[in-house]
Amino acid sequence: MTAPSVPPGATLGVMGGGQLGAMFAMAAKRLGYRVEALSDVADCPAAHHCDRVHVVSYADAPALARIARGLAAVTFEFENVPVDAARAMAAVIPCRPAPEVLFTTQDRAREKSFLTAHGFACAPHRVVRSRGDLHAAAAAVGLPAVLKTAAFGYDGKGQRRIAAPAELDAAWDALGPAPCVLEGWVDFDCEISVVGARGASGETAIFEPSRNVHRHHILDVSSAPAGLPAHVLDAARGITARILEALDIVGVACVEFFVTRSGEVVVNEIAPRPHNSGHLTIEACETSQFEQQARALCGLPLGSTRQRAPAAMANLLGDCWAKGEPDWQAALAVPGVSLLLYGKSDPRPGRKMGHLTALAPTVDEAIANVTRARSLACRTM
Ligand code: AMP
Repeated sequence: MTAPSVPPGATLGVMGGGQLGAMFAMAAKRLGYRVEALSDVADCPAAHHCDRVHVVSYADAPALARIARGLAAVTFEFENVPVDAARAMAAVIPCRPAPEVLFTTQDRAREKSFLTAHGFACAPHRVVRSRGDLHAAAAAVGLPAVLKTAAFGYDGKGQRRIAAPAELDAAWDALGPAPCVLEGWVDFDCEISVVGARGASGETAIFEPSRNVHRHHILDVSSAPAGLPAHVLDAARGITARILEALDIVGVACVEFFVTRSGEVVVNEIAPRPHNSGHLTIEACETSQFEQQARALCGLPLGSTRQRAPAAMANLLGDCWAKGEPDWQAALAVPGVSLLLYGKSDPRPGRKMGHLTALAPTVDEAIANVTRARSLACRTM
């Protein structure tokens, strides 16, 4: 067996200081690495788990290069890291996934052309750069449809559903003149996502697909197994592996899918990093998505993705603090439930503050227990 390209003991960097960076740091430190985060604020979730936080502007290429000289390799925890910032670091040390992956996936128009060029099914769509384009796109893809800004969208931000032609102008007034993509509405049966890892020599390890339920466009509950026919799950896993290969990703990525009523899987979007729907892998799988990220980054063998037990994860948004500090006593008394808080001090409505995970003998029990634990915590029952 060859030695890892970055052995334990080395210092890893993570661009971004959010909860995904924090959970990456927890996993990498367990493997013996030092971890340093790059963030625009010092008081970030990753600060609680990293050895150091570099407060730096992503526009400051010389500062990024200076920081990179103190690291052995770098990854990122959110896909809106400016590509040039990733390139500035990649000129000094390995950046995995490569900056080109960010270039493709952080723009919906480029991501859709990548998917179409490789024959991966996605919603019918048109790139929209003007009011006239929007009217033409609506005629081409049909209504209802959803207008999305091409860049910087997340959790439903930068999106407008359009049901009738009379709503087109208002949608453009809200989102234009930023470049947008108009997507035909997919009448889906459910949404699933698949987290996969790919190592430097091209091997892949794909997790069990999660079934995802959103509330107000934000992920609410993820559960696995997803309870769908094997051919649907196999198709989603296969597409995920092929997307990792086609993008030449070294690291972790998540592919979100719509499952249509006829059982087809249609790609919604790609996140080239661990994903909220993969948090249940921390308790449920032999290797978590964050440990896979560290292993892929460092050239260690990828771990087993085997799931030990059915699992469900429920997000804890700032809304849960509306009646004061949540009742953790009650939540953690529910069998099989664990809590992960991100260390954020300001519980604003809609802000992801932490999550609960439940393991149980069946996925239905896991979902019931995790939602009950959350209701108890948030005093909504
Ligand atoms: P996105 O930010 O693109 O992941 O969209 C957020 C959520 O909006 C998705 O998880 C879906 O629930 C819904 N959505 C987005 N695009 C579509 C579409 N083309 N058809 C139906 N639902 C959609």
